[in-house]
Amino acid sequence: MGSERARETVRRLQADITSGRWPVNGRIPTEVELAQELGVGRSTVREAVRSLAHLGMLEPAPGRGTFVRSLNPVRGVVADFAADHAWEDILDVRRALEIEAAQLASVRADADGVSRLQAAHEADLAGTDDAERGRTPGQFHAVLVDLAGNLLLAELYSGLMSALRQGIDQGALRIGQGADQRHEEHAGLLAAIRDGERDEAGRLAAAHACRDLSLTDG
Ligand SMILES: [Zn+2]
Repeated sequence: MGSERARETVRRLQADITSGRWPVNGRIPTEVELAQELGVGRSTVREAVRSLAHLGMLEPAPGRGTFVRSLNPVRGVVADFAADHAWEDILDVRRALEIEAAQLASVRADADGVSRLQAAHEADLAGTDDAERGRTPGQFHAVLVDLAGNLLLAELYSGLMSALRQGIDQGALRIGQGADQRHEEHAGLLAAIRDGERDEAGRLAAAHACRDLSLTDG
């Protein structure tokens, strides 16, 4: 590895990600498709994806494809740093970011943003959220954090979630509460954000973050 062709493949994929060709949390084309498009071998694509995964920009989810996680390499650094801390500590910081994100979203989200949050909520209700059910608190939270309109917060959040997904995969953490309770709490958050009720949005986010992702033995 380390050939000019491999480095060029990393650069081209990185440029595609940075330019927003695929949305954050969106899936990139398959290895075969990318190999055809870029005119390189599959092993070169695989190596490039691995490099970008190491930077935290991509995340392969076995059997589900490879997802864009960040438009820049910050997330990987945050995830690595967070992973050196106790799960409880990471959950605490995640909750703090959820509260701040909900409060900011209630103030900043426009009608289009509220529609996107509503759509994520309805996809969850319909069971068509995304292919990652059971491994993340869902697209609803990704949209909510996006609506906060604070890129730094979004990158920190994304890095923490990357670390927390490891915890879920290892069985140390679990996606808590049943679907009915999750739907009810999301509906409440959605309403508070739509109505611009900042304090209520923060209060609901705090309560919800304690329940939707928790320690397995906690
Ligand atoms: Zn939730």
